[in-house]
Amino acid sequence: MAKNIQAIRGMNDYLPADTVVWQRIEGILKQVLASYGYSEIRLPLVEQTPLFKRAIGEVTDVVEKEMYTFDDRNGESLTLRPEGTAGCVRAGVEHGLLYNQEQRLWYMGPMFRYERPQKGRYRQFHQMGVEVFGLQGPDIDAELIMMTARWWKALGIADHVSLELNSIGSLEARAAYRDALVAFLEQHKDVLDDDCKRRMYSNPLRVLDSKNPDVQTLLNDAPTLADHLDDDSRTHFQGLCALLDDAGIAYTINQRLVRGLDYYNRTVFEWVTTSLGSQGTVCGGGRYDGLVEQLGGRATPAVGFAMGMERLVLLVQAVNPEFEPTRIVDVYVIASGQGVQSAAMQLAEKLRDAAPQLKLMTNFGGGNFKKQFARADKWGARVALVLGEDEVAASQVVVKDLRNGVQQTLAQSELATTLQALLV
Ligand code: ATP
Ligand code: MG
Repeated sequence: MAKNIQAIRGMNDYLPADTVVWQRIEGILKQVLASYGYSEIRLPLVEQTPLFKRAIGEVTDVVEKEMYTFDDRNGESLTLRPEGTAGCVRAGVEHGLLYNQEQRLWYMGPMFRYERPQKGRYRQFHQMGVEVFGLQGPDIDAELIMMTARWWKALGIADHVSLELNSIGSLEARAAYRDALVAFLEQHKDVLDDDCKRRMYSNPLRVLDSKNPDVQTLLNDAPTLADHLDDDSRTHFQGLCALLDDAGIAYTINQRLVRGLDYYNRTVFEWVTTSLGSQGTVCGGGRYDGLVEQLGGRATPAVGFAMGMERLVLLVQAVNPEFEPTRIVDVYVIASGQGVQSAAMQLAEKLRDAAPQLKLMTNFGGGNFKKQFARADKWGARVALVLGEDEVAASQVVVKDLRNGVQQTLAQSELATTLQALLV
C-alpha cells in the first residue's frame, strides 16, 4: 500500500487547539498596533529572486543557504519570501507610497527558510513585521520599541524578555570599521574557525556574532564599532537611549549586535529571552535608511522589525499561566423531546440576530441531557440553554451557568439581554 503523504519537514499544521492561542495573541498584537495608528499591508508570498539578493545581501545566511528558490514555468527565478521587509519596500516603491510620505505599516504571515528544523526554528514560520517609512529621528525608533514593550506587558511576558541595543552607524563608518576589524582579524587568523575565516573578507561584521567561545574571547581585544561611529549616528543613538530612559524601558547596549541582514544602518535591536533554549531571539529589527533607494525608490528613511510568531507563542505558553486562548463557544444549546431540535435551532438563530457577538453552538446528534451537558463542557461553554417540550410550549428556556451551576427559567424574549449580562 502506498505510504500516506505527510507535511513537509519544518512546515507545520496549526490545528484548532493552536489557532485559538494564535488568534488571541494576534488579537492583542493588532489591538496595540491600532492604538498607535499602524495600518496593515498584505504582500505576495513569492517575489523575484533578485529582490532578496539585492535587499538582504549576497553574503548572508539567508541568501547563501536558506532561500527556497525555483524557476517558474517561464524560466524566471522566484523565491518564497524569507522575510517581509524587501517585499514591503518593493510594494511601497511600486505604488508610490514612500516618497515624501509617512507610512506606518504592519504585516503578518508565513516566511520560508531552509533551516534545520528544531524547537522555535522551522522552514515555514510566521512573522509579525512592522515598517515605518519617511521618519528619520530616533523618536520613531523609540516608539517601535515602546510598542513592543506594550505587547510584552499585554501578553504577560514582560519579565521574560530583555532588550539589546546597538548602533552600527552609517555605511561609511561601517566601511572604516570593517577595514580596522579585518586588519585585526588577519593578525589572529590562528584563532578563527573556517566559517569566520570565510566571513572575514566577505562579511566581516558577522564574525562578531560567531558562537565560537575562542573567537568571542579574541573579540574582547578587537576594535569596536562604537569607536568608529560617525557623529550623526552617535547623536541619533544617544537620542534613542535618552527616549528609552524617559520611557522607563531598560536595555543593554550590546556592541556585538550587528544583525544578519545587510540593509541595516544606525539603530539595531533585539528582544531576547532565556526561556526558550537556544532559539532566544523573539524579535529583531533596526533602521535601514538606504534600502528604498537601493531598490529603485527615492531616498527614504526607514525603520522596522520582525517578530517570530512561533517563538512568541511558545514563550507566552511557557511563562504566562494566566493566558486564556480565544473561546470557541460561549453558549451551548441543548434540546431533547419531540420536535424540540427545530425549536432549538430557531432559538439559536434568533439569538444570533439579537446578539451577533455571542458564540453559540447547537447540539447535534441527539443524546440524553447528561451527554449533551458533557459536550457543552468539552467545548468550554460558559452557559447552557436547555429546551424540552415543556419549555418550547411555554416559549421559555432554562439557562444554566456552567461555572457555578446556577439555573433559572426565563422567557425566550428576555434571553439575549440576560446572556450578554452573564457573559461579560
Ligand atoms: P536567528 O538568529 O534565530 O536565525 P534571524 O536573525 O535569522 O534569527 P530575523 O531574520 O531577524 O531572524 O527574523 C526575525 C525573527 O523571526 C527572529 O527573531 C525569530 O523570532 C524569527 N525567525 C527567524 N527565523 C526563523 C525560523 N526559521 N523559524 C522560526 N522563527 C524564525
Ligand atoms: Mg536565521
